[in-house]
Amino acid sequence: MIFYYYFIIFIFGLVFGSFFNVLIYRIPEKKSIVFPSSFCPVCKKSIKWYDNIPLISYILLKGRCRYCKTKISMIYPVVEFLTGILFVTIFMKIGLNLASVIYIFIFSTLLVNSFIDIKTKNLYVKIFILPTIIYLIYNSLFYFKIVEENFILKETLLNFRESIIGFLVGGLFLFAVRFLSNKIMKREGMGEGDIYVSAFIGLFLGYPLIFYVFIIAGILGIVSYLLYYKKIKDPFIPFVPFLSLGSLTVFFIFEILRGLY
Ligand SMILES: [Zn+2]
Repeated sequence: MIFYYYFIIFIFGLVFGSFFNVLIYRIPEKKSIVFPSSFCPVCKKSIKWYDNIPLISYILLKGRCRYCKTKISMIYPVVEFLTGILFVTIFMKIGLNLASVIYIFIFSTLLVNSFIDIKTKNLYVKIFILPTIIYLIYNSLFYFKIVEENFILKETLLNFRESIIGFLVGGLFLFAVRFLSNKIMKREGMGEGDIYVSAFIGLFLGYPLIFYVFIIAGILGIVSYLLYYKKIKDPFIPFVPFLSLGSLTVFFIFEILRGLY
């Protein structure tokens, strides 16, 4: 029976993933995210609903536009699949409740920005305003005992001090990295957007757990540089994907890490 639920949640994730693709494609181009409906960027023909089914259509069309046969970016099915997996893993960890909705929102924001970062090496800090406010409201509901404790996930909630220090440390640490790399290496070692993403992660994972995120993201960054970015001679490594993966990892072992303090 539980697999049936997982399946439904996965499908739900695929549908959202399909919408996230629209965001990833349109936010950097400053286009409306509602109109017009999806169309092929090359031949401009609008994509029919039956060619827009997450994952399935990509496979049936063998990754090409039905009309002009232009290759469709792998990013589309990858985002859909990862969103499906993300929804299932959060559901597996905390079940279906207000907390899972909040964390799905938070990690979806990070997922969308990770792909925007990969595609454009640019970030849109505005996207983080709403999740920041929602997380603060969510945390206050618990803090001021407005809702029953079992209605939200007590284990993953932080007190305001942890959250605010996490936010400041998250932002300041990457600000320092950026400042020092500008001074020492005379080049931009850290994007401005990364600073806010890191502060945002600090807000919902708190201090000192934000440091585990830095460790994981740092290792992933170095590995990806050595395996890929060094070969294509690109010194600008998108860092948001690694911060996001780091925060997801820390979130999953949150209770264990927090127990250490
Ligand atoms: Zn086309």
